[in-house]
Amino acid sequence: MPISEDVVVVGGGVAGSIAALSAAETGASVRLVSYKKSTLRHASGLIDVLGFTGDGEGPLADPFAGLDSLAERHPYRIVGEDAIREGLALFDEIAGDEYRGSHTDANALVPTHGGAVKPTARYPRAAAAGVASDDRDTLLVGFATMTDFEASLAADHLAAAGVPFDVSGVTVEFPKTFRADAKITRYAKALDTDEAVGGRGTREALAAAVEPHLDGAERVGFPSLLGDDHRHEVRADLESYLGAAVFEVPMGPPSLPGLRLEDLLFDALDEAGVGISSGNKAVGYETDDGDLSAVVVDRNGREIPYHADAFVLATGGLVGKGIDSSREGVREPIFDCYVPHPDDRYDWFVDDAFGDHPFATFGVVPDDRLRPTRADGHAEYENLFAAGGVVGGADVAAEKSASGVSLATGVVAGREAGETA
Ligand SMILES: Cc1cc2nc3c(=O)[nH]c(=O)nc-3n(C[C@H](O)[C@H](O)[C@H](O)COP(=O)(O)OP(=O)(O)OC[C@H]3O[C@@H](n4cnc5c(N)ncnc54)[C@H](O)[C@@H]3O)c2cc1C
Repeated sequence: MPISEDVVVVGGGVAGSIAALSAAETGASVRLVSYKKSTLRHASGLIDVLGFTGDGEGPLADPFAGLDSLAERHPYRIVGEDAIREGLALFDEIAGDEYRGSHTDANALVPTHGGAVKPTARYPRAAAAGVASDDRDTLLVGFATMTDFEASLAADHLAAAGVPFDVSGVTVEFPKTFRADAKITRYAKALDTDEAVGGRGTREALAAAVEPHLDGAERVGFPSLLGDDHRHEVRADLESYLGAAVFEVPMGPPSLPGLRLEDLLFDALDEAGVGISSGNKAVGYETDDGDLSAVVVDRNGREIPYHADAFVLATGGLVGKGIDSSREGVREPIFDCYVPHPDDRYDWFVDDAFGDHPFATFGVVPDDRLRPTRADGHAEYENLFAAGGVVGGADVAAEKSASGVSLATGVVAGREAGETA
């Protein structure tokens, strides 16, 4: 059976998921094609909108106050503030009670595993008790077998950053013994199922290991591994054993909050009736009379065309492989869209590691409807739209705007595609 939908979205990260939902809201039939798992399993699960201005000033208390500082062709300037708010509103609907931050325009300051304080617009409910505007004294807890969270070091960094509370860190043994390279999900599962250790459950045993170090702390932060399916129950139990609020500190990859966010997005896609083909790489395209007619997907070595009236490209930036770089240059590998970049590779970087690197803003160049354009400024195709990290013009890592850009462009690209179909 040939595959044919109104809209095909390529990419299963934040941008692709939101674009697919937005297209479905127009009444279009939608299929989402995604290669491997998205970069969400590496991401923190935080939803940043804008933490720093285009000139690096910040952290910003109000992300919307920084929009005018951004370059004229920044994706936010193209889609406008209303689209950012629309993207956030759609996200809030999907996230329901799992996320916090929707009550205010202001950024929250969330401590990260390195001991930095990060401005973000939406954060998991599990991280809520850790926000830095809260002045309750804090104990951070790391585990001997998890070397990527040094609780004392993170506490020192937070104290040096001037947070308005006393903070200390301690390393304890996790009640169950895991190898140093054990997957984070092993810890989460032991807490989820409350496996018995030494005659009591893992949750109680963990609280007993931490309790002697409390020293008056009113809240306790753990790495993000406090359960998965039963995470709220795990935190509630730890809180009652410890008599202190408990929160998760967002971690680097692999990230349980990122996986939980992916689950939320895919549940919403299922509910909206979006067809999902995952594990398949889009490798090319077909055209008909100058318009795109299909994206070609490699299924176990067979090239299958997925036909549609309109398409959304949401394959991510350099990290997600939506933009590819090699000695020959920088390219968008599926539709071969134009990606401007200096010919000389040495001009892709600057000497200062923290400087403004041109490569950070590489991506397709969208027109006002988010259609990738050619070098002459015309749309590559009337029926191809782009969203998220594949869109150039934003240094999302420096500005702390990655997921916000994905939400805002996703909502617009999805709607444009749905209305074109
Ligand atoms: C380590 C890390 C930490 C992060 N932390 C934060 C944070 O703290 N706050 C924040 O707001 N954002 C953060 N992000 C960014 C955020 O998670 C997203 O990566 C970003 O919003 C871009 O999303 P995207 O959907 O455009 O791309 P991606 O998330 O990269 O998704 C791209 C999708 O396209 C698919 N794909 C790519 N090529 C093909 C192909 N040829 N065929 C089919 N499918 C394809 C991929 O499999 C994937 O599903 C982080 C990202 C990383 C990697």
